[in-house]
Amino acid sequence: MSTIGIDIGGTKALAVRLDDGVLVDDRHTATRRGALVDIALEAVRGVWADDVDAVGVGLAGLVQWPEGVLAWGPHVQGTNIPLKTLLEDELGVPVAVDNDANVAAFGERVAGAARGFDDFLLVTLGTGIGGAIMTDGSVYRGESFAGEWGHIRHDTAGLLCDCGKRGCWETVASGPALVRLAHEVMTLNPEGSLAIGFGSRAIAGEDVTAAADAGDEVARGLVAQVGSELGRGLANLIAIFDPELVVVGGGLGSVGESLLGPARRVAADALHGGNHRLLPPILVAGAGPRAGAIGAAYLASSIRS
Ligand SMILES: [Zn+2]
Repeated sequence: MSTIGIDIGGTKALAVRLDDGVLVDDRHTATRRGALVDIALEAVRGVWADDVDAVGVGLAGLVQWPEGVLAWGPHVQGTNIPLKTLLEDELGVPVAVDNDANVAAFGERVAGAARGFDDFLLVTLGTGIGGAIMTDGSVYRGESFAGEWGHIRHDTAGLLCDCGKRGCWETVASGPALVRLAHEVMTLNPEGSLAIGFGSRAIAGEDVTAAADAGDEVARGLVAQVGSELGRGLANLIAIFDPELVVVGGGLGSVGESLLGPARRVAADALHGGNHRLLPPILVAGAGPRAGAIGAAYLASSIRS
């Protein structure tokens, strides 16, 4: 019994094939511009075998479940793309299409930081904040789109978000938020370590975290500031869900303790009844960059006919 999982991002798709739950093949493909179904088919065919009996797909964006229709995605042209149906017509096997954070949560449960946990939250931290809710070992999707908590109103008078609203959580806790803070510091202090280190080149969140890892105290302060905002939002999620565990993934999440230490302190401070309960563990994701693809293959195994 063989299943394929694919995780389609903005620039690349990662495909894996599992035989009886064991990883036997994996491959990256660059995602050219084009129809989503063609991108998905190229990724699937890269790891195809004759005994494949189900395929799972993770996509960034709003995916209607269980119909597998991408209502909207940040990397995809077009809306309301019925990817599940299109792939099943081409491949002749059952296909499940889900949000990328949902499949990553399955990946963390199968092969990452959430092994052995049935009730946990995955919070993905990158260009924005996404996430997934695992409850009793199943993903809770609400009507379809649950877990898009990057757009919780964190500060109603706050910054304009990519979504068009103001003060969303991800405007202060994300890679772009870290870059914005760095630019503010560099403007205020043009002779400071960051301004001299970065010069006039364009910077990304990883540049700031790399400077922090290298011991730059200003950069460490900025990472801690973003970590504090992360923790303030996590306290809200913990108040709602009381999870056994919170797993922080995504590109910025992999920074680790310099981010999660401040997040834990702020979340513990903000937690209701904090003197009478324990903060759940807040851990960095453990399944690596394949989490989404492995989780998508696991999801496929649950829907095979
Ligand atoms: Zn927003």
